[in-house]
Amino acid sequence: ERVLLTGGSGFIASHVLDALLDDGRFQVVVTARSEEKGKRIAESVKPRQLSYVVVEDIVKEGAFDHVFQSQAPFHYVVHTASPYHLGVQDPVKDFLDPAIKGTTGVLKSIKAYGSSVKRLVITSSSAAILNPDKHAEVYDETYWAPVTFDDAIKNPVKNGYRASKVLAEQTAWAFVRDEKPNFDLAVINCTYTFGPIQRKLSSLEAMNTSNHRIRDMLAGKMKGALEPTAPVFTWVDVRDVALAHLRAMTVPSAGGNRFYVVGGHFSNKQVADIIRREFPRYADRLPVDAVHDLPSDVYGFNNSKSKEILGLQYTSLEKSVVDTVKSMLELFPDI
Ligand code: NDP
Repeated sequence: ERVLLTGGSGFIASHVLDALLDDGRFQVVVTARSEEKGKRIAESVKPRQLSYVVVEDIVKEGAFDHVFQSQAPFHYVVHTASPYHLGVQDPVKDFLDPAIKGTTGVLKSIKAYGSSVKRLVITSSSAAILNPDKHAEVYDETYWAPVTFDDAIKNPVKNGYRASKVLAEQTAWAFVRDEKPNFDLAVINCTYTFGPIQRKLSSLEAMNTSNHRIRDMLAGKMKGALEPTAPVFTWVDVRDVALAHLRAMTVPSAGGNRFYVVGGHFSNKQVADIIRREFPRYADRLPVDAVHDLPSDVYGFNNSKSKEILGLQYTSLEKSVVDTVKSMLELFPDI
């Protein structure tokens, strides 16, 4: 069967791609923003079944139409493309438009030109679940972040990304409910994601956002003091996130569900302690007297749905950090 994976150049997408290809049942087409990026992805996974198609900007009306018109038939679509960074300038341009219009574009194109598609899997986020202003005791898939478009405009740094994820996800559920298209929907609400980087990067700056704190610890940028762990105190390994996407696509009962995908709680001190223990050569780049700043009343999480329906078994923080550090040192030996 054939799968369309959007945002193929991304960190999470690179692992979703591996999970899809390792499974062996799927032919995958990825979208990339340029020929050059597409080629790089295709070369990185040779000699397996993969091709790419250029979608320059998911914000453009009808951006995905040509993909379905020229590459059909697809049986599944996995939509990961959406910006995640910490340098927001204009919340609409940087986050809200690509997230919301990108999602709407995928939905409309499938409905118009993708009659063979059975299921769409979307990468949402725990950002669409959590409410940092008043945390729930235990979060699960029934929670929705109470953040609006206006909140994003008023406070782009705090709310821009969060609003983009919650509004994009709500748009998708509303579309499926109202339009009753030929496909159903499953959503992965993964939390802060660590894990190995498996594509060549042009620079340390080009690294995906959620691995920055491990990169910065290794580079000695937190030698004086670790940055606070807040606002997110839960993490998950990217390989578990990838498997979640694959299973959300293939397990029949996953349709119509959100999945809160969380490996555990963590603090920056725990991450630093693992690096110090497993990579003693880098010990002097880390503060000796770092504080374990996980609040005693930290919010809880219920990930049982992801275990029961998707069969996830979560990777340990230790393994995830070790594998992440190894991948960074391989790519950047002089980090
Ligand atoms: P990356 O930055 O590595 O990937 C983002 C992807 O989206 C890239 O392929 C990027 O293309 C593409 N993209 C962004 N804007 C556009 C646009 N306007 N047009 C076309 N493509 C675009 O981040 P992640 O892998 O971390 O994130 C992937 C998904 O996972 C996102 O939906 C994110 O919200 C979600 N997520 C991430 C978490 C994390 O901790 N990392 C946690 C929870 C959810 P290009 O490379 O060309 O810029």
